[in-house]
Amino acid sequence: MDNARFVDQLATGCRALGVSVAEDVGPRLYRLMGELLKWNAKVNLTAITAPEEVLEKHFLDSLAVLPEVTGAATLLDLGAGAGFPGLPLKLALPSLGVTLVDAVGKKVAFIKAAAASLGMQGVRGLHARAEGKPEAEGIPLAEVLIARAFMDLPDWLALAPGYVAPGGRVVAMLGKAQSDAELTARAAERQLRVVSARAYRLPFSGAERQVAVFAKE
Ligand code: SAM
Repeated sequence: MDNARFVDQLATGCRALGVSVAEDVGPRLYRLMGELLKWNAKVNLTAITAPEEVLEKHFLDSLAVLPEVTGAATLLDLGAGAGFPGLPLKLALPSLGVTLVDAVGKKVAFIKAAAASLGMQGVRGLHARAEGKPEAEGIPLAEVLIARAFMDLPDWLALAPGYVAPGGRVVAMLGKAQSDAELTARAAERQLRVVSARAYRLPFSGAERQVAVFAKE
């Protein structure tokens, strides 16, 4: 896929998701895809390697939660893998301070190299295992906590609030939508409240998604 087609497809996908990004984001994501595929040929970072799939399943899937992250000063992406959703969100929100944490060193090495290659400021890759003790782990608290494909919802709501700065919130990226009652019950188990929940589909595959935001009571 060439740059022009990629940028066009990204714009189509963003429109379908109801999110908007600046003009430079498409070409910069295209460069990020180049870095990802170049690294992936040597180090196994992701099983998703077809450009159409990288575009939808990594980039658009990450950008879909822009409404939930916009306005925050700091974002912490736990279990970020090759940088999703944190790197695309950072490209779309340049003033956001983003820390991406992963327990696997080669993934963090990629995050750092990709951020440097794209000239991204305010991105920190951190090689650490998040187990509920942020200070001991050297993981900074953030206004918004996010993760994708990291833990199931009950485990995420048990772990994530410990990494949230006062007044912050926890974002859960989910697959098939859970009912309001289910989300409320899960939140109550951890003395959290549901701030918002939104179901949507990825624009090309139609895959179901839900994003829910939680705050401390
Ligand atoms: N978020 C990325 C994505 O959606 O493409 C990666 C998802 S991958 C399924 C889960 C990632 O979590 C892996 O990269 C793994 O190394 C990392 N991981 C698992 N347990 C972890 C922990 N306790 N602390 C930090 N990273 C962890």
